[in-house]
Amino acid sequence: MKRRLMLLKRYGFALLSCAFLSTSAFAAEDTAPGVKGASDEEYTPAKEVLTVKYVQMEKPYHLDVESLTGSFKDAKEVVIPLQKQDKAFPNGGGSVSNAEVKAIHDGLSIYFQVKWKDPTRNARAIAVQEFRDAVALMFPLGTVLMDPAEHFSPRMGDREKPVNLWHWKSDWEADMLVKGELEDVEAQYPNMHDDFNLNPYSAYYHRDLITSIAVLSGGRAARNLLSQPGRGRSVEDLNAEGFGTLTTQDHQDVFGCSRYEDGEWTVIFYRSLITEDPHDAQFVPGGNTFFNMAVWNGGEKDRNGQKNISIQWHPLSIERVAWQ
Ligand code: CA
Ligand code: CA
Repeated sequence: MKRRLMLLKRYGFALLSCAFLSTSAFAAEDTAPGVKGASDEEYTPAKEVLTVKYVQMEKPYHLDVESLTGSFKDAKEVVIPLQKQDKAFPNGGGSVSNAEVKAIHDGLSIYFQVKWKDPTRNARAIAVQEFRDAVALMFPLGTVLMDPAEHFSPRMGDREKPVNLWHWKSDWEADMLVKGELEDVEAQYPNMHDDFNLNPYSAYYHRDLITSIAVLSGGRAARNLLSQPGRGRSVEDLNAEGFGTLTTQDHQDVFGCSRYEDGEWTVIFYRSLITEDPHDAQFVPGGNTFFNMAVWNGGEKDRNGQKNISIQWHPLSIERVAWQ
């Protein structure tokens, strides 16, 4: 009994301190001003409208930046100011100060062209210390009101305010250009040893094991898009309802192409104006919506929440189709 009392004395204070600290942490979260500390300024959309210009396009056989960029010549750009992500762990970014966005549609598909300065082309993320360059566009789902009273977060949406995200990844585009359509470890480490091959008899008798995707590649077996060869696209179609809720979609609908030249990325996203996926943003000619964006610079170790973000929604107006 005496021993128990001594233990209580010794550890009781520590336990009480923990309980107090955790209560304080929850209390601080409850009383933080605004949702996740966001300000009214962040809930107020930017004034400048990005017009999705209607153009009659001769659709090229191969959709790439070279063949598509001419179609954007009469579309007016909007320059989006970017800053480091400062609200959710991991914080950081800040190396890309802005990006220029243009948008067009041809009555069937919508195209967004994003350009930004980046002194490093980072198109591989195989080694632990490597990170990719990337850009994402974000759209609210459905028709939404954007004003300070609505509290529609420009940072990944919020609970019951879902968003659709299009995430272009430079390494996914690089994957599309190699045999097997997946740059794997041997691309990064061409001289690495493979212990399995030291004994040819072992390789023969264990061939079922060493070629088993289910055993050796859990990501591919689980149909994780990240692990799949032959994705056929460089853009991932996702949804989110706030920080930490980013989820890939079963129905991937977005494509992309890119060019890196003279320290500048040009990425073009494209998708049908309307899809059958209820988790997608839809673009109706004559209608209006909003978008937001983020840019990652792998050369600065940007990944996940460490990125360059815009902290306001930006209005998007889709021109009507001009029948001639
Ligand atoms: Ca870079
Ligand atoms: Ca989709």
